[in-house]
Parts: sequence; structure tokens; C-alpha cells
Amino acid sequence: MSDCIFCKIANGEIPSNTVYEDDQIICFHDADPQAPVHVLIIPKKHIPSLDEVKEEDKELLGTIMLKVQDLAKDLGLDNGYRLVNNCGEDGFQTVKHLHFHLLGKRKMTWPPG
Ligand code: AMP
Ligand code: ZN
Repeated sequence: MSDCIFCKIANGEIPSNTVYEDDQIICFHDADPQAPVHVLIIPKKHIPSLDEVKEEDKELLGTIMLKVQDLAKDLGLDNGYRLVNNCGEDGFQTVKHLHFHLLGKRKMTWPPG
């Protein structure tokens, strides 16, 4: 997707503060952090949202989920963390490229506030 900001981050066109990258995924610090640690985990493949994940993306999704614990260790989130996906309009998804927010280093209430 030529006009997708996260595709541009994935292909290096737009710089990001990257914490991890391989051929399938890239993880980088959110530009507007909502917690002392706020990292985004995205597939390099353009998938518009969690609602548009296909059967063929099953392994990719598993890879992303398994990466969370590695990142949490690397980022020192030994007291826990929150993983968030905003999906669609009611989920207030602003970037239409699948991503997961990994938030930590502060106590997070539920419901969020
Ligand atoms: P969402 O509202 O779930 O779609 O989240 C999109 C997130 O992307 C927001 O937290 C933004 O702060 C973040 N964001 C947007 N552009 C960039 C960028 N160029 N680099 C890092 N984070 C970004
Ligand atoms: Zn994209």
C-alpha cells in the first residue's frame, strides 16, 4: 500500500525508533507514547486490521504473539504489560495497518483511563 505510513516504516522509507526487526515484522517506539514504554508491533505485510486477517496469516499472527514475551523481556517489563489492538472505527483505529500496542512501566487501570 503506497500511501500507508506503517508500510513506509516497514520498508524504511520513513524512519522509526526500531527495537526489533526481521523479514516478517518490525517493532518500534510509538511517536506519541501513552506509557513509559509504548512499542508498536506490526507485520511488514499490509493487513488493514485484525478484522481482515486471513487464514493464510495464522502463522504470522502466531509469530507476532510469541515475539511479545521477547520484547517484554528486552524492554524490562518484568512486572507485566498490556497488549492492545484497536480495530475499526469504534475501536478508534487511526492507522489502517494491523498493529499491536505493547504498553508497560506504569500501572494500567481497567477500564482504561
Ligand atoms: P491506533 O490508534 O491504534 O491506530 O494507533 C496508531 C498509533 O500509531 C498511535 O499510537 C500513533 O501515535 C502511532 N504512530 C503514528 N505514526 C507514527 C510514526 N510515524 N511513528 C511511530 N508511531 C506512529
Ligand atoms: Zn500498510
